[in-house]
Amino acid sequence: MLHLHHLIDDAKCYEKVRCLRWPYAVRCPHCESNKIAKRGRNHRHQECRRYRCKKCGRCFDDLTGTIFAGHHQPLRVWITGLYLMGLNVSNQQIAHELDLNESDVQEMTSLLRRGVVERRPVVRLEGEVECDEVYVIAGHKGRSDGIRGRKARRNRLKGARGRGTLATEKPPIFGMIQRGGEVRIAMLENVQQQTLAPLMLTTITAGSTVYTDEYNIHERLTQRGYEHKFVIVGANTPGTRMATGFMRCMSTPWRASGRCCVLGYVLIEGFPKRNCPCI
Ligand SMILES: [Zn+2]
Repeated sequence: MLHLHHLIDDAKCYEKVRCLRWPYAVRCPHCESNKIAKRGRNHRHQECRRYRCKKCGRCFDDLTGTIFAGHHQPLRVWITGLYLMGLNVSNQQIAHELDLNESDVQEMTSLLRRGVVERRPVVRLEGEVECDEVYVIAGHKGRSDGIRGRKARRNRLKGARGRGTLATEKPPIFGMIQRGGEVRIAMLENVQQQTLAPLMLTTITAGSTVYTDEYNIHERLTQRGYEHKFVIVGANTPGTRMATGFMRCMSTPWRASGRCCVLGYVLIEGFPKRNCPCI
């Protein structure tokens, strides 16, 4: 039987990882030095190159310090898995496509989701930046400590109507996207001024043009040093595409999300479309 990962080349996967993490020259993940000596290949994964740092003397390979390090499955299985997750494919379907056990896939997807959240880079946005938020239903799935003393639900969590907060189990996911550039996505407790202002000030450079919808929470943007413009409702802009992507990824019928996984789902949704900055 033919499986998707048999059509994908391990050498190309390693090449892509090297390209993304070291666009100019190999750098030591321990001390950032570029004084590196090659040390052959990994004995189990022949395409994986090994190096030794001339400054700190430590050894590392193509995957050291990445979300793909330390697994026995070939890199192509992990990359294909990550790609399928980005296309909103269920664990069961991924297991079928990759010919893996479903519980192994469950572990793989949880690790990848946690990895991309922990490793998301700190970005600074400037120029034209679009901001938008979506509200996703997310309870305490898998976390019994969050619901101690509460009676068990008989039906699925539906979430209150309208704009929600983390306390009402409908947290806002706030996205900021620079036109033609980077993205910053965060899960917030609510969308009040005191929550939103510090996030925007540390992410968007003063003097940038910020596009939002007409929600009155954004009315103080001009006072904070930004040029504030409005996005026409229904316009096909990067910000609205980002928000639609979030909603599509969170509305899949087979998924009910716990609050600890929501950000991971949303970040992985962007994987095939962006340049996977989380490796
Ligand atoms: Zn080093």
